[in-house]
Order: sequence, then C-alpha cells, then structure tokens
Amino acid sequence: MEDCLFCKISQGEIPSTKVYEDDDFFAFKDINPVAPVHVLVVPKKHIANIASLTEEDAAVAGKMLYAIQKVAHLLGLDKDGYRVVFNTGEKAGQTVLHMHAHILGGKEMAWPGV
Ligand code: 5GP
Ligand code: ZN
Repeated sequence: MEDCLFCKISQGEIPSTKVYEDDDFFAFKDINPVAPVHVLVVPKKHIANIASLTEEDAAVAGKMLYAIQKVAHLLGLDKDGYRVVFNTGEKAGQTVLHMHAHILGGKEMAWPGV
C-alpha cells in the first residue's frame, strides 16, 4: 500500500534493523524500544489491524502467530518468556495502521499493564 510506513519497511524501501524475514512476514527492531528486547512482526500483505481482518486474511493471521514464535526463539526469549501485543485502533494507541505484533522481553513485566 502506498504511503504505509510498515509496507515500505517490509519491502526494504525504508531501512530498519531486520531480525527475521520469510515469504509472508518481516520482523525488525522497534525504533523506540520500551523493553530490552522490542521487535515488531508485520505481515508483508497490508492489513490495517485485527479489527479489519477478513476471512481471506485468516490464514495469514494464523501463520503470524507461528512467525512470532520463530522470532521469539531467534531472540532467545523462549526460556524466560515474552509478551506479544497487538495495539488495535485509536484508544489502544495504535499509531501505525499496518497490523503488527510487538514482541517484548528481556525484563520482568508487570500485569495488568492497562
Ligand atoms: P503502535 O503504537 O502502532 O502499536 O506501534 C508502532 C510502533 O512502531 C511504535 O512502537 C514505534 O516506536 C514504532 N515505529 C514507528 N516508526 C518506526 C520506524 O520508522 N522504524 C521502526 N523500526 N519502528 C518504528
Ligand atoms: Zn502497509
């Protein structure tokens, strides 16, 4: 999609610190980390957020969880655990309208965090 930051990052048009890539997903370090490990996983297909998923997107959405598992493993987060966050819509603080999972780890995290 034109003028979408995460489409451009996943296509390599805007530089990022890449952590993982396959045919369907791209993962890169968040520019403003809020935890010692903070990586974003995005589908290469432009989908705005969970709220706008269609049935056609169900397969890619399911595969995204598996990609998140692979990225967390690459980051060495398996043993200690990690948090996965999908901010969805304005009140949840979604600032980039291209669906992304935040993988957060490397520290003890408080819960609930709302
Ligand atoms: P949201 O608030 O939409 O859930 O998350 C967007 C995330 O994208 C934020 O954590 C923000 O720091 C990150 N971000 C915004 N612009 C860029 C960028 O140009 N490069 C990278 N690597 N991360 C970005
Ligand atoms: Zn996009």
